[in-house]
Amino acid sequence: MIASHRLKDIPFHESINVGEVMESLPSAIVIHYSGNDSLAGTVNWLCDKQARASAHVVVGEEGEMAQLVPFNQVAWHAGKSKYKGKSNFNNFSIGIELVNPGKLVRVGDEYQAWFGKTYPASRVVKVETKNSQEYWCSYSIPQIQALKELILVLKRHYPINMLVGHEEISPGRKVDPGPAFPLEDMRRQLMDIDRDGLLNETEKSDIQLGEVIAQQLNIRSSIRGVPRKGPLKRGKRVWILEESNDWYKVFVEETGWVKKEFVKLLDK
Ligand SMILES: [Zn+2]
Repeated sequence: MIASHRLKDIPFHESINVGEVMESLPSAIVIHYSGNDSLAGTVNWLCDKQARASAHVVVGEEGEMAQLVPFNQVAWHAGKSKYKGKSNFNNFSIGIELVNPGKLVRVGDEYQAWFGKTYPASRVVKVETKNSQEYWCSYSIPQIQALKELILVLKRHYPINMLVGHEEISPGRKVDPGPAFPLEDMRRQLMDIDRDGLLNETEKSDIQLGEVIAQQLNIRSSIRGVPRKGPLKRGKRVWILEESNDWYKVFVEETGWVKKEFVKLLDK
């Protein structure tokens, strides 16, 4: 899945907002949120000179991803940072940016992001504070699932021993990924278990896992769309996100639609 410090099968958009090659392989992962609602918008901004910021990978709300910086090169995501005796996390960590608007404000029955978009109550995580109630936008199941897979892949290639939120290493200055992000669950699930452990964990979730039974299976971005390059091969595992007549919307490294008859549902 990783060659020359890049994820295979994931689009690479090179950011110029980078430092040197790291002195040793990355040993920590830092989680951020983008503060917006779009993967493309996040990628464009983090590749823009004006941003003076970047991340190694951006993960969208449907679990789609883009990589901006090779994993052995310093990305500018953490800034001034200190945690458990370590500082300057950019020098030894992989920065992952999750597309998420962050904190929301209640407006009538809806919840509004700072950039004006509203979210339904079903997306909101309510957090009680001393004097008031805060509203944060939840992270989607496919996004969390994609992040877990990514972290496991990174753990297999790099000596990762720390998973932290930006707010932990830059307290007072940063609030991402915020209380809606299941940081403790992730640490418990990913930092001490193997791949099978993750699959066991996933079986408890609502997402059905399937396996491709055709020799090669076309995947399309919409049901009537043209097949993408690189069909799925027999035995490939896919998460089934949605069903529509003869079709499943699946998640592999990205989402797309496939013919149902060529996917076998796996036992829960
Ligand atoms: Zn951040």
